[in-house]
Amino acid sequence: MALKLFNTLSRSVQDFVPLDPAGKKVGMYCCGLTVYDFAHIGNWRTLVFSDLVRRHLEFKGFAVTHVTNVTDVEDKIIKRVRETKTSLRDYTGKYEAAYFEDLTALNCRRPYHSPRATEFIPDIIALIEKLVARGIAYQAADGSVYFSIDKYRGCGCTYGKLLKLNFDEMRAGERVKSDEYAKESIADFALWKTRVPDDGDVFWPSPFGEGRPGWHIECSAMSMKVLGESFDLHLGGEDLIFPHHEDEIAQSEGATQKPFVKYWLHGAHLLVEGKKMSKSLGNFFTLRDLLAKGFTGREVRYLLLTAHYRETFNFTLEGLQGARTALGRIDECIGKLRDAGRNALLRPQADQQASPAKLVEAFTAALDDDLNISAAWAAVFEWVRETNKRLAEGSLKPADAAAALAAWEKVDSVLGVGVTVEVEVPAEINSLLEARQAARKAKDFKKSDAIRDELKAKGWTIEDTAKGPKLKKL
Ligand SMILES: [Zn+2]
Repeated sequence: MALKLFNTLSRSVQDFVPLDPAGKKVGMYCCGLTVYDFAHIGNWRTLVFSDLVRRHLEFKGFAVTHVTNVTDVEDKIIKRVRETKTSLRDYTGKYEAAYFEDLTALNCRRPYHSPRATEFIPDIIALIEKLVARGIAYQAADGSVYFSIDKYRGCGCTYGKLLKLNFDEMRAGERVKSDEYAKESIADFALWKTRVPDDGDVFWPSPFGEGRPGWHIECSAMSMKVLGESFDLHLGGEDLIFPHHEDEIAQSEGATQKPFVKYWLHGAHLLVEGKKMSKSLGNFFTLRDLLAKGFTGREVRYLLLTAHYRETFNFTLEGLQGARTALGRIDECIGKLRDAGRNALLRPQADQQASPAKLVEAFTAALDDDLNISAAWAAVFEWVRETNKRLAEGSLKPADAAAALAAWEKVDSVLGVGVTVEVEVPAEINSLLEARQAARKAKDFKKSDAIRDELKAKGWTIEDTAKGPKLKKL
């Protein structure tokens, strides 16, 4: 079955067909964080959603070039750099490192490229020069370079492709910022911001004079540099549709005269405890705040993955407790399956009627349907119920258990919530365990303790369970 995704550009669910004529390679760009503070849970909803898209595409055999940028120069950052009297790189470096740590805590696959805006200044300048040469960008009296929406529309291009709203109504409510008084039209947006005293040391030389790039042009330049002038997927939170993504389209298509992105995917807003997140309401959480409350990245990931990406989701601490319970059910089932499958001598046989195959089939069909995650979880928990029943009845042979585990690992390669890798125990460690058992049997506790210490030194610990000793990697 073909993968279907909701494309904001067409406002409809469409078959996903990559631009690659071989149908194999996929270019995917997600707007990343502005590294001026720790990322909050709303940011993480978007990034976990993009991880789900990437994992599902990889599960389906696509070769995904996943790019998520790091915005490391921007108004808020410059303000903080000024206030903290630090350098741009020192300031952003701290929050960039925290971003990667959090990404790991949430078990998101690291993007293959994480371009920093400050490392793409020559590409950004070249793109602005192209727009100036085509007459759709201009340098104003204040030295800043602006994108002219009128000129862009004048060459037959459409501004506002994602929103499809009346253009004049759309921009009418926008306030003119004091530093943008020189614009020809209220709708125009800055591509290059001329240096002002408040910028401190944050500026670069350019043909338009010293200054820094606007936020929108950074994403156009970085995405096209890494993925080419036209690519498959562009993701982001729905709050970025306008003006950020509309501006990205205008800048990119204005410069290249080629379609910029084939599919635009947007994740919906996140509410926390029923309200818009705000520090004053006390419902503003970074991932770190939640970890400090004793929750795990895995629980947060699970909860973020329970809602469809296009639905507004109400994130609650009670929901996190529920996530813990749900994951506990999965863990218990997997644990029992591992015990039951331990003696499987044969590789599992592919049996289309067996429940593991049904799990993978139902799960794949659900996610192919515009990432219908509720149906995907329903398939998982149906399988957990059925498996528990068979385990209780004792009707699951070791080979069945191994097949069930293999199916779970496939599914979890997309969900990313389970510890799926059973650690191989090296022969040397197994013999030490046997020697320890023999020593214990002979009541030579000194020897058995010495072996336990030796195992510990080699990174293994022994857990004595009702079913005998179990080795665990430290
Ligand atoms: Zn962006």
